[in-house]
Amino acid sequence: MKIIPLSSGSHGNSYVVKAGEDTILLEAGLSQGDLKHSLWDYDINVKDIELCLVSHSHQDHFKSVEWLSNRGVKVGLPSSAVEKGLFKRLIRKDRLIELEPYKTAKQGNWYVKPFELEHDGIENLGFLLLHAPTDERLFYATDTAFIKEVPQNVDVMMIEINFQKKYLEESVKEGTMSRENMRRIMRSHMSLQTTLDFLKACDLSKTKQIYALHLSGRNSNAEEIREAIQEETGKPVYIAGR
Ligand SMILES: [Zn+2]
Ligand SMILES: [Zn+2]
Repeated sequence: MKIIPLSSGSHGNSYVVKAGEDTILLEAGLSQGDLKHSLWDYDINVKDIELCLVSHSHQDHFKSVEWLSNRGVKVGLPSSAVEKGLFKRLIRKDRLIELEPYKTAKQGNWYVKPFELEHDGIENLGFLLLHAPTDERLFYATDTAFIKEVPQNVDVMMIEINFQKKYLEESVKEGTMSRENMRRIMRSHMSLQTTLDFLKACDLSKTKQIYALHLSGRNSNAEEIREAIQEETGKPVYIAGR
């Protein structure tokens, strides 16, 4: 299984996942122009992407769903977000897949088990993916205060690490961030410590790669995060980001 992070963070999220002959996207949070450009850079034809999974209805995760759907890509996203109507206008009906937590959806060679995350009241799904021909598994969770699922035997882990608490506290002390804003971030995103505690609970014996996603430029240090996770897990850690 090969992961190509096209972009990660509050400006836009999109990750290519390749397994065997199959290619999917996680998130469509780049603008149409930027997504086209990134796919071109990696020599990926949009016609070869069969599915795009969108975790929740924030712009940095769904900006180019209309373009993808018009080019034949099936788009899966939380059914509650579809009910609000926006996505019914953006995505062709025959290419829209409504995802329910804990109900497995099958698309081509992929099995998708969505699970609930905690994003300050907005319905947000994480995904456990199985690519049947290669039997490879991927766990994906972003934009959440914590993760209740404890995956076992996963080949690739993709997890948000948005902030390190010490940097948030520094910003508040310096007066560049309000205390309310700090609380809001802590209610809706993962800290390095929360991720380390989560990883401690997982069986990582089969895990080959760990990706840290959605880092905040201001409230995190990529190198410190990489080192901390590598030390905790002994696995190769990649920071997704521009
Ligand atoms: Zn986001
Ligand atoms: Zn979000």
